[in-house]
Amino acid sequence: MINTTTLSRRHFLQLTAAGLLSFRPKLNAAEINTVLGRIPIREMGSTLVHEHFLVDFIGADAIQESRWNKDKVVQKVLPYLQALSPFGVKTVFDCTPAFLGRDVKLLVQLTKQSGLNIVTNTGYYGAVQNKYLPAWAHTETAEQLASRWKQEFEQGIDGTTVKPGFIKISVDGPHLSPLHQKLVRAAALTHLQTGLTICSHTGSAIPAFEQLDILQQMKVSPRAFVWTHAQVEKDISLHSKAAKKGAWISLDGIGWGEAEWYAETIAQLKKEGWLKNILLSHDAGWYKPGETNGGDFTGYNNLFTTLLPLLQKKGFTKRDMNQLLVTNPAQAFGIGIRKI
Ligand SMILES: [Zn+2]
Repeated sequence: MINTTTLSRRHFLQLTAAGLLSFRPKLNAAEINTVLGRIPIREMGSTLVHEHFLVDFIGADAIQESRWNKDKVVQKVLPYLQALSPFGVKTVFDCTPAFLGRDVKLLVQLTKQSGLNIVTNTGYYGAVQNKYLPAWAHTETAEQLASRWKQEFEQGIDGTTVKPGFIKISVDGPHLSPLHQKLVRAAALTHLQTGLTICSHTGSAIPAFEQLDILQQMKVSPRAFVWTHAQVEKDISLHSKAAKKGAWISLDGIGWGEAEWYAETIAQLKKEGWLKNILLSHDAGWYKPGETNGGDFTGYNNLFTTLLPLLQKKGFTKRDMNQLLVTNPAQAFGIGIRKI
């Protein structure tokens, strides 16, 4: 599945990667939690903010770690992580939440063997008719859910010392259900107590703005909110509107094609002054327990082999690329409470 590139293109990309590494953006003193501990955000380097290593769609009532063998998963995923080194990538966020296959011991194995910083999450995934929510998510209050997530931030996940680097929630459209409104309130409360950024699997604009309204009621700044899967919304004026409020716009499905649409959208948002709000990633991967050798796997390279060259053709500079892949991820995810 790893793209074969021509020598000249590879050479060009290596130059791009070298450029990414040599540029030192000015960043504040904030930090982020990787699965091996805290690092300053200036050490994140070129970052993919939304990828997956393993996802198990069996459902919250049946999921258990015995459904996969960590060594076999590492064997499958590691070459795809190693393939990122020519592109200068230093940090990858694993966006698989609890009850969908989050396995922090697996992430520790992958970070040690790949040399990449890996970042994991806390929070619950409400989309797909709540199939991935544990029973207590239906009955507990937002405060009780937030206290579970805060506990992972303070003490570690699943009996380990691994701490989350962001909050990952997920909602269904077209409008937020009361249950999903509660997940957003729980994420807001967790943000106010931990300073972790909220990534919400959202898609179209209506639920994105409904979530921003809830955050506003709770005095949480839009700068603490990542509109995840914003590429599902095709009306770019709505991306601009959310960016104007301060929200992060995550165009994170580059693993699945439509590179020209991404390039045009990013160029349009740049023209309107919102390059500083855009996050890019593939949403690619992933090992699927229950399938032979984890099934098909999509690598994490389209962004570098297809999208960046398209952006270069549109006149994007080295500084723009750094903004997208180095500065924005660091500014979006540095731990810090952001109130209105
Ligand atoms: Zn995802």
